[in-house]
Amino acid sequence: MKSRPSLRRLALLGATGSIGRQVCDLVERYPSRLALHALVAGSDAAALEALARRYPEAHALLAHPAADDPDRAARAIDDLMRDPEVDLVVIAAAGSAALAPTLAALEAGKDIALATKEVLVMAGELVRERMRRHGSQIFPIDSEHSAIWQCLWGEKERAVRRLILTGSGGPFLRRPLETFGSVTIAEALAHPRWKMGPKITVDSATMMNKGLEVIEAHFLFDVPYQAIDVVVHPQSVVHSMVEFVDGSIKAQLGIPDMHLPIAVALGFPERLEGVTTAPDLATLGQLSFEALDLERYPAVALAREAGERGGTAPAVLNAANEEAVALFLKGQRRFDDIVPSVRRAMEAAPPARELTLSALVEADRWARARVRASVDGAGRLRSKLPA
Ligand code: MG
Repeated sequence: MKSRPSLRRLALLGATGSIGRQVCDLVERYPSRLALHALVAGSDAAALEALARRYPEAHALLAHPAADDPDRAARAIDDLMRDPEVDLVVIAAAGSAALAPTLAALEAGKDIALATKEVLVMAGELVRERMRRHGSQIFPIDSEHSAIWQCLWGEKERAVRRLILTGSGGPFLRRPLETFGSVTIAEALAHPRWKMGPKITVDSATMMNKGLEVIEAHFLFDVPYQAIDVVVHPQSVVHSMVEFVDGSIKAQLGIPDMHLPIAVALGFPERLEGVTTAPDLATLGQLSFEALDLERYPAVALAREAGERGGTAPAVLNAANEEAVALFLKGQRRFDDIVPSVRRAMEAAPPARELTLSALVEADRWARARVRASVDGAGRLRSKLPA
């Protein structure tokens, strides 16, 4: 067992993003428990500079400096991931950029608070292998996985029957299916419960987010896919559940505020005092649950299929989806073509011979190019909206 210092020094990747800023809030609120050793941002130099002024004691690093040598930046981040002054690495950088630093930190035996689900979706097998070999742990920040993690505290692995992920269903839970072709960008970005970045908000509308979370849960908790279910829960108060072999179900409840799962990961194994207010159940009155509509949300089954196929299939799914969502957000792809274009990429993807970081990066690159140039069933290029 590693000793856990009462003051935890953080290296924060993705400092200027939505999760990164909430990590900074918590550092400010709990100065005797949390400190920033380093702040890393992608390419937003101005935002990083502003943060560096607020936290002068932290080293500030830009991952993609405009004029600087990108290899030097990558080496600096790699060194940071192995820095003995760092107690916990927080990974909240967007997408596949988080992959190499995560693997480096795990190799150095660091524990990681992980917000970037793409890391496990793309490279779950590599991540698990590094964790086993170096004895490092991952503390999930994704709210569903934080809930499951908390439900599993003190439980034996053999006591678990299945994991039950909840999902709000996003803005289109009741929208007539035949109108999905005319969904506008603004409609897809109007999430009823959570305030998040645009990509993940669109993923919530298609529920691809939940599909990615099924894969994430498989690797985080080492549970087979057939023992991971999804249930729709529009209020987003029950963040997920675990069913045990005796027929018990444990659930974790909280208001929809990411500060809470972040604080659970940063404070573990202690809980921080007064992070949010607890939900007032009498005021809420009703919590409801319903079965996942597979026709409305084909992304969940598609993601599960990619997970079960394994190898580079989840990386292809993830990259194709990122690209299709980006095209939708630019007005170049219809909402109801996001998931079909991911499916087409998955069906066309060449299998990788060996699962390495470079094979995953190559699968990612291939899938993005494929979606950008993708053609529909009738052979028409779909890079432009049909008239
Ligand atoms: Mg989530």
